[in-house]
Amino acid sequence: VPDSPCPMPSSPLDILKSVYGYDAFRGRQAEVIDHVIAGNDAFVLMPTGGGKSLCYQIPALCRDGLGLVVSPLIALMEDQVAALRAAGVRAAALNSSLAGPARGQLWDDIRAGELDLLYVAPETLLRPEVLERLRSETRLALIAIDEAHCLSQWGHDFRPEYRELSCLAEAFPGVPRMALTATADAPTRAEIVEHLAIAPENSFLAGFDRPNIRYAIAEKNTPRRQLQGLLTAHPGESGIVYCLSKRKTEETADWLNDQGFRALAYHAGLDAGTRAARQRRFQHEEGIVMVATIAFGMGIDKPDVRFVAHLDLPGSIEAYYQETGRAGRDGLPAEALMLYGPDDIALRRMFIEDSGAPDARKRMERQKLDALLGLAETADCRRQALLRYFGEDHAPCGNCDTCARPPELFDGTEAAQKALSCIYRTGQRFGQAHIVAVLRGESDERIARLGHDRLSTWAIGQEHDARTWRSILRQLIALGLVSVDVAGHGGLAISERGAAFLRNKESLQLRRPQKGSGRKAPRAQA
Ligand code: ADP
Ligand code: ZN
Repeated sequence: VPDSPCPMPSSPLDILKSVYGYDAFRGRQAEVIDHVIAGNDAFVLMPTGGGKSLCYQIPALCRDGLGLVVSPLIALMEDQVAALRAAGVRAAALNSSLAGPARGQLWDDIRAGELDLLYVAPETLLRPEVLERLRSETRLALIAIDEAHCLSQWGHDFRPEYRELSCLAEAFPGVPRMALTATADAPTRAEIVEHLAIAPENSFLAGFDRPNIRYAIAEKNTPRRQLQGLLTAHPGESGIVYCLSKRKTEETADWLNDQGFRALAYHAGLDAGTRAARQRRFQHEEGIVMVATIAFGMGIDKPDVRFVAHLDLPGSIEAYYQETGRAGRDGLPAEALMLYGPDDIALRRMFIEDSGAPDARKRMERQKLDALLGLAETADCRRQALLRYFGEDHAPCGNCDTCARPPELFDGTEAAQKALSCIYRTGQRFGQAHIVAVLRGESDERIARLGHDRLSTWAIGQEHDARTWRSILRQLIALGLVSVDVAGHGGLAISERGAAFLRNKESLQLRRPQKGSGRKAPRAQA
């Protein structure tokens, strides 16, 4: 193997073979690479593990000059740089932690044209003196903006400094600009290309499907037992368990360790050293279960994560897709299990209402939450529903929980009518637990005091148990027939759609609540 650090003018395929040791391009890689080498901009949307890095690394090696890569996380950059150097590519990272002399040397290399790829965080790149030096002291082969969805104000990873990257078009005229991401629904997509002034015809959208991931979503009945069921099916394998709160990550990790699993907690409340050490263990040891908040996210580059569990509702479908996407990057079967319950829904609604965000944003967030609930409550194929959200049409997959075991439906017309009238009779201000108690004909001091045991709707729902009623109410919420007063105490009210349902005497199919843990032994994918 020649030791020449610089792969002199050779074809992208030669570079793929000699530098990376791969035989063929995947998906749309070759197309993107040729397009950028020819000097065009590109917006690249590929699922996690799709191979985005090569899309900018190879053109940077083929074109004259320095390839500038904007990346949000220093840890992520350093991993990439180390891997590239090991493969003989002249790569470096420019970041604030770089000491004076090393920094001087780096700039010398840049000036002398002795670097192929320079990774930089947006806040560093945007410093006027850095921009100026790059403009005057070197020639850029391209600018690649990784994790480009970070510029979207609507997205879940918004980083304000990413928005400032719009200045690059003017600062470096004629230099191809690339934006790359794994998550973007249609509005986010439009926002990225518009903001970075990349013409829409320069878009390369690869499919979102991750066929090796088996999706399952279940009601949160006995979360610890449900989690244990998942982990038991993956002995000695690595996985991630997402929780909403720091405390819950600690408690869950402790409990898992008591059960004989090797679990580590990870959240933003830990000091940087502990976080880095735990991330390293997860990355390099086998069979570690990382119990984490979403602070554990970007930059995880472990190909053999075999399962991702959500013990609490994620923030949106995009967040769910991205978080579950960390499973099975090696293409081998992996599993994603999400548990959700009414408390999660109420909490998420409260987050939105208390966010202090402008109304338009809150509306958007509510829609995103409803979409996620729709996915959770769907009786159709999960993959189909998930990909439909990203604008893709797919046939039922045969490899998700609803495909494996189609949920039973029942005619929920009467149940919905009863629930709605009970909500109405009690004054449209009581929460789910109270409504269920009245429907079931329970009587306690509060119900007696309110006189709700004398209402016509008291005890009209004895044919269903409390769990079934809770599921029915949740589905009515997900379907938009019932609204939740999250600013107050989670009181339920009849929405306009609910009123129309009653008025028009519509009928309704509901999903029968799942029995047991909602999880069956995993079927290996054929
Ligand atoms: P992304 O950034 O899109 O999540 P990466 O660029 O990290 O994905 O690539 C994911 C994995 O796939 C990496 O291990 C990478 O080396 C590998 N890979 C990328 N392109 C190819 C290819 N053409 N053939 C084989 N493996 C590839
Ligand atoms: Zn399916």
